[in-house]
Amino acid sequence: MNDWNIQSRSRLCHECEQGFEDQQIYRSLLFIDQGEYARKDVCESCWISQYSAGSGATKGFVSHWRGRYVSPSPPPPEAIRKDTAESILRKLVEKNLPEYAGALYILAVMLERKRVLKVRDQIKKAGTRVFVYEHAKNGDVFTIAEPDLRLDELEKIQHIVADLMENGLPDEKTDTTESEGGEAPENNIEAPEETPGQPLEESVSNEHI
Ligand SMILES: [Zn+2]
Repeated sequence: MNDWNIQSRSRLCHECEQGFEDQQIYRSLLFIDQGEYARKDVCESCWISQYSAGSGATKGFVSHWRGRYVSPSPPPPEAIRKDTAESILRKLVEKNLPEYAGALYILAVMLERKRVLKVRDQIKKAGTRVFVYEHAKNGDVFTIAEPDLRLDELEKIQHIVADLMENGLPDEKTDTTESEGGEAPENNIEAPEETPGQPLEESVSNEHI
């Protein structure tokens, strides 16, 4: 089950498939489908005709809000992009690293104060409070679970956040430990008969989390 998640805003209505225009009002609906979040953006008339009549429970969505579509602006060139609270948050959410749950939450709060993110809703998922954040500009939705933080852990997490902001994610520098794509040197699993003396556990022993 994934408590952290990014769902991008659609460029067209999920129901009638008409493209959203700049400044158009739309509705975002958040569903939980087999433990995963699923977002649907619909135009105002599809909202009225198909969703607004029933309560959220009868239509199956756990959260909904009204937004204003803003046509996307081109992303900045790679060269001038650097790690910010926002880019770190995106990376953490995409990688879904449970050891950074506290840092992720702090980053989200920081970005909320800077008005980069706004809280759209709070929902309960498996007993945990989950904040539904929406990016103020591009409409991306982040679902971020509230971690079980003790007060004495806060300072440690602030150090982790400061370190992330300064140095980025640790595994970005040591790519060798991560098996990206199909070129990883893990042939021992594929062809055990060539190396009969080698215990297979050796090659899958990186479960230190
Ligand atoms: Zn529509």
